[in-house]
Amino acid sequence: MCKVISIANQKGGVGKTTTAVNLGIGLAAEGNKVLLIDSDPQGSMTISLGYKEPDSIEYTLSTLLTEVMEERKLSLTETIIRHDEGVDLIPANIELSALEINLVNAMSRELMFRSIVEYLKAEYDYKYIIIDCQPSLGMLTINALACADSVLIPVQAAYLPVKGLEQLIKTIGRVKRRLNKKLWIEGILLTMVDSRINYAKDISRLVVDTYSDQIGVFKTLIPVSVRASEISAEGSSIYQYDPRGKAAAAYRTLTEEVISHA
Ligand code: ADP
Ligand code: MG
Repeated sequence: MCKVISIANQKGGVGKTTTAVNLGIGLAAEGNKVLLIDSDPQGSMTISLGYKEPDSIEYTLSTLLTEVMEERKLSLTETIIRHDEGVDLIPANIELSALEINLVNAMSRELMFRSIVEYLKAEYDYKYIIIDCQPSLGMLTINALACADSVLIPVQAAYLPVKGLEQLIKTIGRVKRRLNKKLWIEGILLTMVDSRINYAKDISRLVVDTYSDQIGVFKTLIPVSVRASEISAEGSSIYQYDPRGKAAAAYRTLTEEVISHA
């Protein structure tokens, strides 16, 4: 069984990419075969994993999407990169933004990712596929939601944007009704929590009060950490860069929480 988790929030800078990388590598460290898919034309996840110039990578998610649109065989072996921390990566670069525009005219435009994921499930034995979404509710994010089993929503604790969350949750509901019945919300993850300020509990409570019956909030809180903010430039996970730090500990706990959701 393979579980596909999309990491989404149309707000930028909330910790999506950091969470995708460290949850993915955390799951791999627990013995699971993991594929990370970068679905952001900025290529932030690709860069975070050490590929500093995504625009010079030849085979990317755009290659696969073009192949799906043209009904050609997918170049999976050429596209999948093995990272030395035990995960595989389908990288992304700026070509993806042009492709998103072409998608609008494609047949079954919301289900392009699903075709790719179905191929991957048939040919590889991944236990988890983690998709890092771009900060928008555009066609790429709809695709990521339409092919996922669940969606994990990182929210920056200091600025709980209840309005923005409503829009995201509405979109998730729409995708669930029209495209993907099995989609559920894995949970809201509070990131960049400052333990010196006691609002994390208030925010947790606010989220629970606002959305409780529909949406869970992860018990794990990701603390604000200078070390965590440095890893994207390092090209490694928090486990490698600062294994004994509080952010590594938090991402390990998050990994266990996700595994416990099965
Ligand atoms: P998104 O993918 O939602 O845009 P990122 O994961 O790229 O968010 O994080 C946004 C910024 O915050 C990045 O500069 C990142 O290095 C930094 N960051 C991420 N997690 C933390 C954290 N726990 N503490 C401090 N800074 C963080
Ligand atoms: Mg990002």
